[in-house]
Amino acid sequence: MTANSSQHPTLLVSACLLGVECNHEGGHSRRRSVEALAENYHLVPVCPEVCGGLSTPRAAAERRGDRVVNADGTDVTAAYERGAQAAVELAQATGARGAVLKARSPSCGSSEIYDGTFSRTLHDGEGVTAAALRAAGVEVISEDDLRAG
Ligand code: SF4
Repeated sequence: MTANSSQHPTLLVSACLLGVECNHEGGHSRRRSVEALAENYHLVPVCPEVCGGLSTPRAAAERRGDRVVNADGTDVTAAYERGAQAAVELAQATGARGAVLKARSPSCGSSEIYDGTFSRTLHDGEGVTAAALRAAGVEVISEDDLRAG
């Protein structure tokens, strides 16, 4: 028995893009274009922040250098790293070679993220999970890349 019983290739997907109410405000970011991938892919939802042990809702966080912090300065790096490791293990367990992750998240962002000043300022960079998945050989794109394609 294999992890993917369908003939479709497996993709990890940020759970919030599939309608799971797991973001820091307890909401979701459902995208029809992401849900439609189910026609051709075996979709495996994952929320790295929840997998890392954080509650929902939770404080907003941003990457600041090699750390992840809440607006009040609380260092939550360990939870973000646990979640990233869980996502890598899930990719390996399911044979996922690609991932479609939520743009601009400190976990899932894949090309730009907020800069750690909590002023809604974006800069080039990736979330902790996106980076870990790429280091493990998984191709990562965002829902914005999907629309562009
Ligand atoms: S960690 Fe990723 S999957 Fe979870 S709510 Fe944030 S963007 Fe969505």
